[in-house]
Amino acid sequence: MRVHNFSAGPAMLPTDVLTRAQSELLDWGSSGMSVMEVSHRSKAFVACASQTEASLREVMGISDEYACLFLQGGALGMFAATPLNLSAAGDTIAFLNTGDWSKKAIAEAKKYADVAVVADTAASNFTTLPAPGSYEVPAGAAYLHYTPNETIRGLEFDHVPAADAPVVADMSSSILSRPVDVDAHGVIYAGAQKNMGPSGLVVVVVRRDLLGRPRTETPTVWDWTVQAEADSMINTPPTFGLYLLGLTLDWVKASGGLEGMAARNREKAELLYGFIDASPFYSNPVTPAYRSWMNVPFLLADPELDKQFVSEAEEAGLTNLAGHRSVGGMRASLYNAMPLDGVQALVDFMKGFERTHG
Ligand code: PMP
Repeated sequence: MRVHNFSAGPAMLPTDVLTRAQSELLDWGSSGMSVMEVSHRSKAFVACASQTEASLREVMGISDEYACLFLQGGALGMFAATPLNLSAAGDTIAFLNTGDWSKKAIAEAKKYADVAVVADTAASNFTTLPAPGSYEVPAGAAYLHYTPNETIRGLEFDHVPAADAPVVADMSSSILSRPVDVDAHGVIYAGAQKNMGPSGLVVVVVRRDLLGRPRTETPTVWDWTVQAEADSMINTPPTFGLYLLGLTLDWVKASGGLEGMAARNREKAELLYGFIDASPFYSNPVTPAYRSWMNVPFLLADPELDKQFVSEAEEAGLTNLAGHRSVGGMRASLYNAMPLDGVQALVDFMKGFERTHG
């Protein structure tokens, strides 16, 4: 029996994707092997990787001005790789500090360059985002980094920040969830384990004019220029992740592309936030305009009931609802693969819990 899995990541994958992977597991493309057992240099795998890239370009609308890289080391790895590839020692990197993940990206960048935090919403306890035009990026900044979706506190930008510098997005928890203006970005990177596939794969979309200036100490596997020239195969790429991303993108295409994902995600988010806002028992502190469609944190009126909520939910087949250990409360992650009826099951459970304990 499959449960309704509200994990923030690694997260649930579409059932169609898992069933297809299962059906191809022992004999992938009449090779007599699983995709995990074939050489990354084989004709069949190279074709699979290039089909995955073509699908990503089609789904996200990525032009030839950008290279698509398929690397390892997660988004955390890219927190270091970005300054190494895009800045020189002594440069200034501008950051919007909007939550726990931007904080981590800032800490990593500080090892390599000067950091200017040009907007910081810590004073609001990360319940809101900086308004467009309310901050200034210093002239000559190597780039402006932001986190379009803060996974832990559930905030999501409704716009791409404007800057006179390349804009870099850590899109780990919102990539593929709605249409995105790729051309407004210099770089988009994302760990795969929420909306794209299994962990172990990180996708980097980088404008080609930003390549060619890596620092000499950049590890070769994270040298975006070298990897772009080698089709991300300077060494063994995460082959299973690439394959599964390809299947996920097929599913996204068959489900109406990013417009289809957006319609589905909006409906799910409206259902859950609508219920929370109408209830005196549950609450969400985030400014409504900036509420995430992907991660919905919520508090119970009485935190003493948190443990009971989680365990009763689990008994009802609703798993991974405890909030991040740093903030407590609850969090329901509603990535692309979560169907509307999963969210309806959660709302029904929450109603019942409120009736019994409220
Ligand atoms: N950035 C964001 C927004 C995230 O949600 C996460 C993972 N939860 C990370 C970075 C770290 O990703 P990884 O584990 O792939 O390094």
